[in-house]
Amino acid sequence: MDTYASNLLAEVKAKNPAEPEFHQAVQEVAESLTLALDRHPEFRKNKILERIIEPERVVMFRVPWQDDAGEIRVNRGYRIQMNSAIGPYKGGLRFHSTVNLGILKFLAFEQVFKNALTTLPMGGGKGGADFDPHGRSDQEVMRFCQAFMCELFRHVGPETDVPAGDIGVGAREIGFLFGMYKKLKNEFTGVMTGKGLTWGGSVIRPEATGYGAVYFADEMLKTRKEGLKDKVALVSGSGNVAQYTVEKLITLGAKAVTLSDSTGYIYDEEGIDRDKLNFVMELKNVRRGRISEYADKFKGAVFTKIDKSLDHNPLWNHKAQCAFPSATQNEINGKDAANLLRNGVYVVSEGANMPSTIDAINQFIDAGILFGPGKAANAGGVATSGLEMAQNSMRISWTREEVDNRLYNIMRTIHATCYRTAEKYGTPGNYVNGANIAGFLKVANAMMDQGIV
Ligand code: NDP
Repeated sequence: MDTYASNLLAEVKAKNPAEPEFHQAVQEVAESLTLALDRHPEFRKNKILERIIEPERVVMFRVPWQDDAGEIRVNRGYRIQMNSAIGPYKGGLRFHSTVNLGILKFLAFEQVFKNALTTLPMGGGKGGADFDPHGRSDQEVMRFCQAFMCELFRHVGPETDVPAGDIGVGAREIGFLFGMYKKLKNEFTGVMTGKGLTWGGSVIRPEATGYGAVYFADEMLKTRKEGLKDKVALVSGSGNVAQYTVEKLITLGAKAVTLSDSTGYIYDEEGIDRDKLNFVMELKNVRRGRISEYADKFKGAVFTKIDKSLDHNPLWNHKAQCAFPSATQNEINGKDAANLLRNGVYVVSEGANMPSTIDAINQFIDAGILFGPGKAANAGGVATSGLEMAQNSMRISWTREEVDNRLYNIMRTIHATCYRTAEKYGTPGNYVNGANIAGFLKVANAMMDQGIV
């Protein structure tokens, strides 16, 4: 790291203590940007990166609600409005027990660069609450969502800030949140994306992040004149992103052999076919059960319980060519990266946000494999949210083919932009540098045009 980046990181750590994930995200970007800032001294002089690191606004609020037993519960809600230089704040809401300010700031920071890469006019934001929907009844989830929106509605709007889903926030939660927003504002507007198809949602939005991560992997493979057909893939998670990653892998003739949740993972050497995937979708989206049930149902599949005393995740220790981490941040550490490389993995496309630690990323780059960082590889979700916003503004709905074509073309464009930018800045094949620099330049130029605000 050069002196500028290391000084910047020291300042960020001093000013934002106890936010390790935010420090990690800033470090990764600052290291890449050294190359760009050397060629563009005006950005350094105008402290553009220093300004991007500081959220434009942070809202933190109390969310009181009553559980089914009548007990009063108090959670903490957040919305980080990180950067609006190129459009309204845009980014998901996460409901998970681990949610805190630092995690949401890392996610909002990543979102700024990701949204810039999509080619659509969207700024960056993120929000959520330390609420865990697991084991809660639909009524409890509804009461929580309503209480959450009773404060959030003041800070969002179709021209200001347009939230979507993330971990723990799917179609059910978006419905409850939108319903309360509509009631409070007495307005039917596209304030959220990921809506139901009969009330303003876009086809392909649920599929978009997973499909996009697979399209991105395919584009990376094309640079070596290869494709996904007959490749074996390790996939983590079993939620929205993981499910549609597996679906697109099946369509393109690849074989996904793993899925996971917070209790452990399944390995199915024969591969997860469409019938098995339908079982997972029903298990996770309707019954909200555990992934271990997959191994009870399908003979030959093995469930391994999570063992927190291990220094690695055994899911990443199987023979394969591709990996699609699609659960959560820092799920691939240095040891896992070494295992993946040893087992023959040479394509990693990040469906999750920041699933690889800096040590893991450095190993992938040093090994010269095809590594697609989350802010490029998983941008298909927010890109399709952008398409949902466009359809809402025009009060029309596009067909499945039309949205999927647009998503595919956006992913190809993101890939080409990252590839070309990496080459232009002297690090060919390094998609981390390509994504960070290309996303930064777009936002930085807009900030220069708009003055010191
Ligand atoms: P879901 O809530 O649908 O699924 C999350 C999955 O990851 C579940 O299987 C969950 O298991 C598992 N998981 C979550 N946290 C942990 C943890 N700490 N340890 C182990 N397993 C965990 O979320 P999504 O699929 O929407 O999101 C997955 C990732 O993709 C996140 O990093 C998210 O930020 C990113 N992403 C999502 C987008 C989207 O459009 N949804 C867009 C871009 C990125 P369990 O149910 O047991 O908790």
